[in-house]
Amino acid sequence: MSTKDYYDLLGVSRGASIDEIKKAYKKLALKYHPDRNPGNKEAEEKFKEITAAYEVLSDSEKKAGYDHYGHEDASDGFDFSQGFSSAGDFSDIFNAFFGGGFGGSGRSRTRRSTTGVPGANLRYDLKITLEDAFKGIQATVSYNTVIKCDACQGTGSEGAIKPVQCHTCQGSGNIRIKQGPFIIERTCTTCYGEGEIIQNKCKKCGGNGRKKDRANISVSIPKGVEEGYKEKVSGKGEAGVRGGKNGDLYVYVKIAPHKIFTRNKADLHCKVPIKMTLAVLGGEIDVQSIDGTIKVKVPEGIQTGTILRCREKGMPHKNSNVRGDLYVQVIVETLNPKSLTAKQIELLKAFEEEENANVQQQSEGFFSKVKKK
Ligand SMILES: [Zn+2]
Ligand SMILES: [Zn+2]
Repeated sequence: MSTKDYYDLLGVSRGASIDEIKKAYKKLALKYHPDRNPGNKEAEEKFKEITAAYEVLSDSEKKAGYDHYGHEDASDGFDFSQGFSSAGDFSDIFNAFFGGGFGGSGRSRTRRSTTGVPGANLRYDLKITLEDAFKGIQATVSYNTVIKCDACQGTGSEGAIKPVQCHTCQGSGNIRIKQGPFIIERTCTTCYGEGEIIQNKCKKCGGNGRKKDRANISVSIPKGVEEGYKEKVSGKGEAGVRGGKNGDLYVYVKIAPHKIFTRNKADLHCKVPIKMTLAVLGGEIDVQSIDGTIKVKVPEGIQTGTILRCREKGMPHKNSNVRGDLYVQVIVETLNPKSLTAKQIELLKAFEEEENANVQQQSEGFFSKVKKK
């Protein structure tokens, strides 16, 4: 889903009135409606974007949320674009605006009642460390949500008394007005599109049946998860409207970059410096792995950049005890003469002389072989 600025999408300023927002949406919606642009993916995408923008900006509560949090607040996890995945959802909004008569699609709408509407899904971005992903964790997530009002048991009416049907719209929630070439379907102003009227509004929630709340829940993240993994927590999204089912909470995992390791699925990669002398003579080094220190054999004569594979010392595969590998790249460090003792320098000079002599011998051997042929 797009994260473009909703005001930019509709081409209106932040201070635009609801009328200006409606006008801007109407103009763009007529231009990009899929019925007018058959097979045009770009137009369809654009239509979805502007409709999502309109859906939020035309609703004072959602607009306030958007103005405050933007598309989604990383810590609170409100996602205003969730819940609009299929073109059908957009057609609904479009028809609510223009009526069903547009483009000959002839969709007829029944009651736009909010009764029984499911609650919105929420998204929470959970940042964890690579070590958390290695072990799996039980994380506490805390987020803003909307819960059922306990005073009216979510009905919106005092004493949980059933609402009565709206007389103006006969319970449909809409009234139809013919205007130029369009049949405009407007939300009923008596019941605000709900199709029914609550006689005695609950004082605690103002008849909404829901109230804002802060939720704290514990979420189990399995070991071996990768960046972008999402854990669905059923029923932990926003409460449904008047008996509607609760939305779900989606916890998205983000893994912080690690100081030492880079990751490729279940494999880990790291670089380890080793001394020049160790590279020549070979030996053993201590390497920091994701779960402790391990001994790694370095073969003699190793060249810088060589990668050593440590089997099953990487990350676990998701929900499994099988582990990937750790790849250790050896970086041979040249000795710094400033940190060497006089004796070490002497030895290196002696080494250098010895090597020159050795090279000469080999060269002579080579030339004598050439002569023999
Ligand atoms: Zn209430
Ligand atoms: Zn009505």
